[in-house]
Amino acid sequence: MSLVKYNSKRSFNDTPEPSGKQGSKPGKLIFVVQRHHASHLHYDFRLELEGALKSWAVPKGPSLNPKDKRLAMMVEDHPISYATFEGDIPAGNYGAGHVDIWDHGTYEPVDDNGAVITARKFAQNLDAGSIKFRMHGKHLKGEFALVHMKKDAKTWLLIKHKDKYATEEDYSSEDYAKKSSLAYTAKRNEVSVKKK
Ligand code: MN
Repeated sequence: MSLVKYNSKRSFNDTPEPSGKQGSKPGKLIFVVQRHHASHLHYDFRLELEGALKSWAVPKGPSLNPKDKRLAMMVEDHPISYATFEGDIPAGNYGAGHVDIWDHGTYEPVDDNGAVITARKFAQNLDAGSIKFRMHGKHLKGEFALVHMKKDAKTWLLIKHKDKYATEEDYSSEDYAKKSSLAYTAKRNEVSVKKK
């Protein structure tokens, strides 16, 4: 696992994002979901593992409805320090746009029966293309899975398991976005309408 790709995509004189240093961190494994309004609105889903944040871009955002199988495109590992990043990535930079933390907390890697497993075993499951984990966030709670689709290296699905935190109602992560995030999006949409 390496942050070379992360660093090579960014000029740290131009972007407020943290530069990438691999680093272990004491305590429980963390996760963060960032709402990122770049050229396209998406949610970045990140799980701490082996000194970095494994990352997926989820166009529709996570869902608590087990029927929603949300497309999750694996992207480059991010540094752990990225978990607290919010702000504007200036025009001309990779991922230019607005980033807000949508949810954060800790997670436990689990096996098929919901028993906690080691980070090492979890990393092996990730390589094998199927991970399960229990989330302890404000919005995201309970068990989820990320499953690799065999059609290419990057395509995964993010799926909520049926448990007491699951819902059968329609779920939109936008309903839980911060007002500041939505205001940014509204302003940007207004600008793009004027351009037409
Ligand atoms: Mn992103």
